[in-house]
Amino acid sequence: MTAILLKLSVGLALIGLAMGLIERLWPAKPNQKFLRKGFWTDIAYWFMLPIISIPCTPLALASAIHVAAETCGIESVNASLIIGFGPVARQPVWLQTVEIILLMDFLDYWSHRLLHTSWLWPIHAVHHSSDEIDWLAAVRNHPFNDFIQRTIAVMPLVLVGFEPALIAACGVVFAFYGFFVHANIDTDLGPLNRGGLKFEAQHPAG
Ligand SMILES: [Zn+2]
Repeated sequence: MTAILLKLSVGLALIGLAMGLIERLWPAKPNQKFLRKGFWTDIAYWFMLPIISIPCTPLALASAIHVAAETCGIESVNASLIIGFGPVARQPVWLQTVEIILLMDFLDYWSHRLLHTSWLWPIHAVHHSSDEIDWLAAVRNHPFNDFIQRTIAVMPLVLVGFEPALIAACGVVFAFYGFFVHANIDTDLGPLNRGGLKFEAQHPAG
């Protein structure tokens, strides 16, 4: 536990320093205080969510993938699921990386749309509960919200043969993308601004 807390503290300091600098240089809301509304709540989420997710999500995700693999009749490749398999895994790593990022973006967009439906909104509303946001607000998520998004983004990729370790590495790119789209930055990513997402404008409207 101490090791996780230490890693999370170092990560918070380093990412906070980099993102804080960018937010100071190009602020969308220059008058927003560093200790904005909800700052301490989001700090609590920064530490609590990984402590819940790190032991639970991989296990739950692995179980879901196992059930899905058997349902799809690909239980024979179950052992290969952890290292990738088939023609997909035989492609060059750079091509797999590009494919994973594009597919993950597509899946992540639709999982977010799903979270906005009436029956999942009570879980997702936690994420949209910030009155003021900056990069740190990206981590304000219900653990089930986290699990649903990860399952939808990861499970299909594992089932078609991508190596989970490569998928996890690409997931880091998306974590940083999440920080950027929530940041208090006055700029536009153009085509990278998926689904009409605007930086600070996407919250708390829901
Ligand atoms: Zn949302």
